[in-house]
Amino acid sequence: RSARFPAVKSLDTFDFTAIPSLNKMLVLELARCGYILGRENVIALGNAGTGKTHIALALGLAACQKGFSVAFTTAASLVNQLLEARDERRLLRLQRELASVKLLIVDELGYVPLSPTGAELLFETFSRRYERGSTVVTSNLPFEDWTSVLSSERLTGALLDRLTHHVSILSLNGDSYRLKSSRSRRGRA
Ligand code: ADP
Ligand code: MG
Repeated sequence: RSARFPAVKSLDTFDFTAIPSLNKMLVLELARCGYILGRENVIALGNAGTGKTHIALALGLAACQKGFSVAFTTAASLVNQLLEARDERRLLRLQRELASVKLLIVDELGYVPLSPTGAELLFETFSRRYERGSTVVTSNLPFEDWTSVLSSERLTGALLDRLTHHVSILSLNGDSYRLKSSRSRRGRA
């Protein structure tokens, strides 16, 4: 399975000084991909524009370069694919495919609330990958607010239980880099 990344981003172009809350040493360590061999997860949390997708893409690129199979998707798109596969009676095949990827990157969990069925299918994906492969998740929401996306408290608890058993947490909190860079462009003009 090949990764279809929406953009190619690497750590070379990431300015760590712009986001002091982010543990640079941990990110550099993760880019060496040891966590993939250990089937561990990464969760990047923080507000919009702080570089979560950039870091997730960079980790994906690093994994590709080391020869691991990688898939990149947003939570909303993954859930749509799962629902579609279920309607077309090929859910098991898709879940098996998703479970076999060495690194699954699920971007933007939190912006779109999921239907109860969607949340259950996403839980199943994470559950099948538990201790089998690595999952990187990015979210704008702190863990205590994940219930608002997954709708069920029981499901959220079970999902977080699996996802966070072996996990590195990256915290990206600060000003939006998008706003900052558009301001500095205006400043230069
Ligand atoms: P998020 O996913 O947290 O909303 P993004 O990763 O999409 O944020 O970042 C928004 C834009 O700003 C992207 O083009 C990204 O490459 C860039 N960006 C964000 N943070 C940094 C940074 N610290 N250094 C360089 N570019 C950054
Ligand atoms: Mg993003």
